[in-house]
Amino acid sequence: MRQTLQSLLTFGREELKRHNNPEPELDAKYLLLEAFRTDMAHFLMNRSRELPDNQEIREMTRRYREMIGKRALRIPLQQILGVQEFMGVSFFVNRHVLIPRQDTETLVELILKEHPGQGERILDLCTGSGCIAVSLALRGRYKTITAVDLSSEALKVAAKNCERLLGEGENEGRQYPKVDLRQGDLFMALKQGEEPFDLLVSNPPYIPTAVIEGLEPEVRDFEPRMALDGSGDGLEFYRRIALEGKAFLKKGASIYLEIGYDQGTSVKAILESNGFRHIRIVQDQAGRDRVVTAATDSNGL
Ligand code: GLN
Repeated sequence: MRQTLQSLLTFGREELKRHNNPEPELDAKYLLLEAFRTDMAHFLMNRSRELPDNQEIREMTRRYREMIGKRALRIPLQQILGVQEFMGVSFFVNRHVLIPRQDTETLVELILKEHPGQGERILDLCTGSGCIAVSLALRGRYKTITAVDLSSEALKVAAKNCERLLGEGENEGRQYPKVDLRQGDLFMALKQGEEPFDLLVSNPPYIPTAVIEGLEPEVRDFEPRMALDGSGDGLEFYRRIALEGKAFLKKGASIYLEIGYDQGTSVKAILESNGFRHIRIVQDQAGRDRVVTAATDSNGL
């Protein structure tokens, strides 16, 4: 029997099911549409039609089977497709960066609401794919965004996203704020005597080391460990940011940190003991604690 798009979908779905993929039908569909460079409407209209037996179709079929093979190994769908949507924009991703999460949209939306921008200098630590920095550049009216990561491989991904999404772009007739990418360990990436920042944002690694082993294979085995591992209690980066950050922030500057759902009280205490004021814990769409925000004292810390 010659193959159809439906028969290929069924093959992929069954293959993924056999490997305990949590979304076999949906994932097989995404991979089929990608391999055959088509969309859902075309699939629905033509799925029962026999596919012609030509070189192009054979190549598309080979690529589809190869992608199903990768997904069967539990490689994340986004790494296979090379993209993830975040704040309505498509970001390039690979195995060197954390895949942008919907949770992090809560962080970005909160900043855009509370600080839509009037020429501020923003610092984004642990930028990864650059999804926070680029979204703020696209949507806010800031002066500059300095985005730091320890991983030079991650910074290549961030650079590609900046190039693709902010390239020659204009924001309502204005240039987007420049995103300045820097490699280094948190504040060590900054220069001595650097002009202080108005706002610090970070989605640092925050999962306690021992918890990582119990995560889904997609996260545990394929996302970068250094983007997830927040040390024994998961709080190391908050301690360092609260302690070291003061020297790089203006008086009255704001800080916005993504946190794990159960870290609100601990992160609040860390910020408090470092002299931060106006500390608030903000929930995500699912009602879980997701962001801690605070300000430095307007008289200096
Ligand atoms: N939210 C991510 C997860 O649960 C973790 C992100 C992080 O450590 N910053 O997989």
